[in-house]
Amino acid sequence: MLTPAIFGINNSGLNLAIDLVLLFLVVIWLALVYWTYADARRRIADPMLIGCAAAASLFPFIGTIVYMIVRPPEYLDDVRERDLEMQAAEARLAEVGYHLCPHCDYEVEKDFLRCPSCMRKLKDPCTTCGRPLDPAWKICPYCESEIGAAPPAPRRARRRRETGTEQPVAGAAGEATAGSQPVS
Ligand SMILES: [Zn+2]
Ligand SMILES: [Zn+2]
Repeated sequence: MLTPAIFGINNSGLNLAIDLVLLFLVVIWLALVYWTYADARRRIADPMLIGCAAAASLFPFIGTIVYMIVRPPEYLDDVRERDLEMQAAEARLAEVGYHLCPHCDYEVEKDFLRCPSCMRKLKDPCTTCGRPLDPAWKICPYCESEIGAAPPAPRRARRRRETGTEQPVAGAAGEATAGSQPVS
């Protein structure tokens, strides 16, 4: 048996009872070590920390109690599931037309060029038609112009000249200064 006769040979019945209690405690302790290891694996991703939790539980009972106090409150599966649900919810909201600023999470419209809350740039306007462009687009889907291409300069220049004819002096002066100075 596990213990020598503590109370003398005559008390064999008492010795048997003590042995049984000790055996019971050892079984409980081993079960707690296993439970701590299994529980840590479900809550902790780092194998080092799982090893630490299992090692701590080798201290009979106290190790497991300490582990139960400091263990992470959630299962890893629950955390993963919640993250997936959040992503799905965000995707659903984006489909409906609800967009958030990626910098400050302020609610913005789909065609905002700049976040009204944090003032940061969200999208570039098309150089030709001025509509907001998604950064992933290679051409403007509204006017078919290539993104990054120069705006159609001749049309704008002509328009400026037409307004210039209404006020010849100011227009001529403006063009003269614009021509003489390099573009700043
Ligand atoms: Zn913002
Ligand atoms: Zn365009």
